[in-house]
Amino acid sequence: MPPEKDNPRAWDKSHYHLACVEDAVAKAHQICSEKGVRLTPTRLRILELIWRSHKPIGAYALLDEIKLEHKSAAPPTVYRALDFLIEHGLVHRIQSLNAFVGCNDPGHVYSGIILICNDCGDVLEMDDAKISETIALYTNNLGFQLSSQSIEANGTCPGCRG
Ligand SMILES: [Zn+2]
Ligand SMILES: [Zn+2]
Ligand SMILES: [Zn+2]
Repeated sequence: MPPEKDNPRAWDKSHYHLACVEDAVAKAHQICSEKGVRLTPTRLRILELIWRSHKPIGAYALLDEIKLEHKSAAPPTVYRALDFLIEHGLVHRIQSLNAFVGCNDPGHVYSGIILICNDCGDVLEMDDAKISETIALYTNNLGFQLSSQSIEANGTCPGCRG
């Protein structure tokens, strides 16, 4: 059964995306102040750029965007900001695309599946603790020490199926 709490906006093509961005920025401020870490202007800007859409964006595309505003920006600027955003659960890395997407439910420990639409490129995070529990159980039984896990699934989203 699909978890109800997941953000259904991602795949509603007519949704008011500015609300997603405002939500993400507000939650980022809240999480950083709770944790006592700094959401610097660069970190915030990278987060906003990632949230331009629900499509994953690569580090070099982010660098190109940032360079329009700060000519001196270099790859470490982007990578350091990405590390920060990932560490604090604001952004996830899509391994198969080597790209980044904003988290639907910032601050949570990511456990679940990332669904990637082959048609529009949008990504939706499906969170389900059962999935990560199952993986932990299986790997543990095999004597494999798990350090991280990510599952990505490709297909066609409801919006593109029409
Ligand atoms: Zn949106
Ligand atoms: Zn997430
Ligand atoms: Zn789609």
